[in-house]
Amino acid sequence: MDANFVRLPVFLAVFAIMALLEAWLPARQAPLNRWLRWRGNLLLLVTGALAGRLVLPATLIGVALWAQDAGIGLFHLFDVPGWVVMAVSILLLDLAIYWQHRLFHRIPWLWRLHQVHHADSHVDTTTGLRFHPFEIVVSLFIKGSVIVLLGAPVLAVVIFEVALNAFSLFNHTNIRLPQKWDDRLAYLFITQRLHRIHHSQYARETNTNFGFSVSWWDRLFNSYRSRAQQTDETLDIGQREYPPTADNASVFRLLAMPFTRAHAKHR
Ligand SMILES: [Zn+2]
Repeated sequence: MDANFVRLPVFLAVFAIMALLEAWLPARQAPLNRWLRWRGNLLLLVTGALAGRLVLPATLIGVALWAQDAGIGLFHLFDVPGWVVMAVSILLLDLAIYWQHRLFHRIPWLWRLHQVHHADSHVDTTTGLRFHPFEIVVSLFIKGSVIVLLGAPVLAVVIFEVALNAFSLFNHTNIRLPQKWDDRLAYLFITQRLHRIHHSQYARETNTNFGFSVSWWDRLFNSYRSRAQQTDETLDIGQREYPPTADNASVFRLLAMPFTRAHAKHR
């Protein structure tokens, strides 16, 4: 079984809807030509997908199947109802991603990789796909370890992977909900406006709102920020050392970014 059977159609559908929405009702104006950014971001996605396949040909579903057959993982030690195992697996995988994201900001060499994502001069749905291939590989190992440790069921892994991908497209979309809706939705979810605060140029704002889907991890672990100092319209997005130029948007530049120039630390 290949997770891409499920993930690819959901990905294409969510991507199309989000791209249409942000083309129709953009929240902010991009400082750089869309196609230059899209080309770089989408080519980076391709390199990440290839790197993931090279390192982990079996995909995370294969990892879950292997753990299941071998009887490895915490859930195999206890007699817990199936639905509890499913819910707890998805919840703990999401929690792991929250902490993975915090680690990527905290540890300098991981920040070098993750900074490629933050160096986008604008945030739109393709930013949700812009991750350095090495970040993809590190993330695969972390997710794979959590799956094996828990003995997470295959279905939970499929749901989690599809949801993570869809939420990443969703919360990077360049749209703005009316403030009242946004505040209500933010009780449970990371909205576009909340996630843009995470893409602010100011470290005290970048190091908040780490969640990809639900907002309760940020509330629980004290990293939630409901308002930036600037308004959503005027928020300085990206990284100051990477101004919006065609060169900084090219896939070669993105691939080389962790290994070149001085890197700002966000602690
Ligand atoms: Zn981040």
